Amino acid sequence: MWGIIATWRMAVEGITKAKEELESGGDAGNAIETAIREVEDFPYYKSVGYGGLPNEEMEVELDAAFMDGNTLSIGAVAAIKDFANPVSIAKRLAKEKVNNVLVAEGAEKFAHKEGFERKNMLTDRAKIHYRKRVKELSQEIKPYSGHDTVGMVCLDQSGKMTAATSTSGLFMKKKGRVGDSPIAGSGFYADSEVGGASATGLGEDLMKGCISYEIVRLMKEGMHPQLACETAVNHLHAELTKRRGEAGDLSVIAMNNQGEWGVATNIEGFSFAVATQKEAPTVYLTKNVDGHCIHEVASQEWLDNYMRTRMAPLEE
Ligand code: ASP
Repeated sequence: MWGIIATWRMAVEGITKAKEELESGGDAGNAIETAIREVEDFPYYKSVGYGGLPNEEMEVELDAAFMDGNTLSIGAVAAIKDFANPVSIAKRLAKEKVNNVLVAEGAEKFAHKEGFERKNMLTDRAKIHYRKRVKELSQEIKPYSGHDTVGMVCLDQSGKMTAATSTSGLFMKKKGRVGDSPIAGSGFYADSEVGGASATGLGEDLMKGCISYEIVRLMKEGMHPQLACETAVNHLHAELTKRRGEAGDLSVIAMNNQGEWGVATNIEGFSFAVATQKEAPTVYLTKNVDGHCIHEVASQEWLDNYMRTRMAPLEE
């Protein structure tokens, strides 16, 4: 059995590429890297990699992580600038015995020494979004809206599982701000003996529940990935609401080592993409109805509209 599941519609081209590798017996580490790089390289996805939205100082600072569920090795970079594929740097760091998580200049120095591709990740389109947001801020628009992390979990035919993430984090974040995405247990977790999970939404809140580890822990107790995702999201949403009066966006995906998957969210319109030995690459939309998440295959109209809006010309 093989499978790959990912947050958001933007992942579908990537998981379609990964499918080719997984079908022919490829490794879950390489397949997930292929899939995430595809998202990082596409300039019209404005929350990951090239074209990602900048921080308050108009710099694109990226976070990414990789975990090998066989060895539990983890690698991550945070607030890294000017490198094309943060996920590959994270995957390389996972091979180290120590110094697995590097930030800012330290991460850049390592990436340079290892020969990773340098690239100015700030596009003209992202600059337009930035200038528009600066204008909007004087009109009381929420400063941080406009962020989506690509997070994936992958299972290969040998039974190896991996998890990985890549993101530009919150639009207009403070310089140096790090979200959940490069934090093990919060943005991602994988254990080949159980399964893996990954999250997207408000990093500051996702971290409060170590939500990816929590989902894997619930699967280890015997829960199906769907129930594990719903239990973790509903619980964290309720706790945050009780203790703080509100909960940020929380969306999660998970797969177990049998290729069964689950998804949960506390927002409207969370999309995700999945491909397994039994299921061609498919985009779904999900919604939470009284604690249960109902997934519907995205219509052609929705898919067409998605690409149209992503690629529409931007006016200043
Ligand atoms: N979780 C990411 C962060 O807080 C953003 C997102 O997934 O939308 O950096």
